[in-house]
Amino acid sequence: KAYTKQEIREIVEQENVKFLRLMFTDINGAIKNVEVPVSQLEKVLNNEAAFDGSSIDGFVRIEESDMLLHPDLSTWLIFPWEVEQGKVARLICDVYMPDGTPFKGDPRYNLRRVLKQMQDKGYSAFNIGPEPEFFLFRLDENNKPSLDLNDQGGYFDLAPVDLGENTRRDIVLELEKMNFEIEASHHEVAPGQHEIDFKYTDALEAADKIQTFKLVVKTVARKHGLHATFMPKPLQGINGSGMHINMSLFKDGNNVFFDENTDNQLSKEAMYFLSGILNHAKALTALNNPTVNSYKRLVPGFEAPVYIAWSGTNRSPLIRVPQSRGLGTRLELRSVDPAANPYLAIAGILSAGLEGLEEKELPVESVDRNIYHMTDEERRENHITDLPGTLNEAVDEFAKDEVIKEALGDHLTQSFIDSKKLEWSAYRQTVSEWERNQYMELY
Ligand code: GLN
Ligand code: MG
Ligand code: MG
Ligand code: MG
Repeated sequence: KAYTKQEIREIVEQENVKFLRLMFTDINGAIKNVEVPVSQLEKVLNNEAAFDGSSIDGFVRIEESDMLLHPDLSTWLIFPWEVEQGKVARLICDVYMPDGTPFKGDPRYNLRRVLKQMQDKGYSAFNIGPEPEFFLFRLDENNKPSLDLNDQGGYFDLAPVDLGENTRRDIVLELEKMNFEIEASHHEVAPGQHEIDFKYTDALEAADKIQTFKLVVKTVARKHGLHATFMPKPLQGINGSGMHINMSLFKDGNNVFFDENTDNQLSKEAMYFLSGILNHAKALTALNNPTVNSYKRLVPGFEAPVYIAWSGTNRSPLIRVPQSRGLGTRLELRSVDPAANPYLAIAGILSAGLEGLEEKELPVESVDRNIYHMTDEERRENHITDLPGTLNEAVDEFAKDEVIKEALGDHLTQSFIDSKKLEWSAYRQTVSEWERNQYMELY
């Protein structure tokens, strides 16, 4: 809902809101908060709330550090949980430079920019329905996350096996109070692993919702003595956590991906869009799977994609086309994990798809059998290549891909590459337990 300043003033009064939390997202996808007492409301509404941008990863240098927050009034929300001192409301903000121009390193502004490009091409909405997965671990006596899972449940199991059930139910209730329409909520394959799916919305709102979702899940889990993590592969040997992204492109209320007159009822546009994602899949991986740990999920045997291919039926490929048609026609990208910065990932995916629409190239044929059971030879014959196997490889692919770099713009591209190269270098220098077990006695 698009609130006016006056409506917000009235709600603050009626609901006795005491604090305003101004939220934005850094390049790593971390939510940043500036919290001010409600006495600052007028300043906030007039886009005058300032913060020091030099202390935020990937933002700016000390010399230009005073940045301004422009709240998006449509994101106004009172948190359903109360703190001792009173109610807290939040506003998601765009970041501006002191001279009044939008800050090019703000991932949210950047997504708006790419959405504008989409609109200029005549499309009205890029709809995103995410399927975030996460683990619940017990907190230890020092309130630190342990590696103890709180249940032994499996896919779609119910209580009494699933002790996480109550926590998940509470999470769903809190989300509903915050205007989420929850479509599904279930135990996932691994013990302690859960998935909650919410209804698709336009890309910007979906990215905002993903960020809010993570905050709510973590907050509610804590109340149950649990730590919720969106780390892609917290435990070796069992499934990791993905965040499948369902997507469709709309033009004046019609789903562009649907065409009742083709064999599979997918339009040419859907095929071009899909082809664009496949063509840029390697570079997109850097954005969709942005941590060292992400690549421990993208291995055979745990329902996560490893190969660049698509299918209308099989679930092993990178892109699947779910059965539903008409307005629900969509592509499901299965590589994305919940460590992805949703603003950057969605900007990249959309740019790849729009490039596909420009190029008008049809994708390679779909693969409707289990890719993991094919030989290398068979995969080659079917034009199936591998996703990058490490963060370093993915970042190198990203650095070579002009379309995906353009999806981030110069500032974000440079900060992203710098930050990920640092992460890789720190990891590369780490000597792990695995190495000591493997080599200490052998050599
Ligand atoms: N956890 C799996 C992944 O890593 C997905 C499992 C599923 O949703 N079928 O992507
Ligand atoms: Mg799912
Ligand atoms: Mg799932
Ligand atoms: Mg799915």
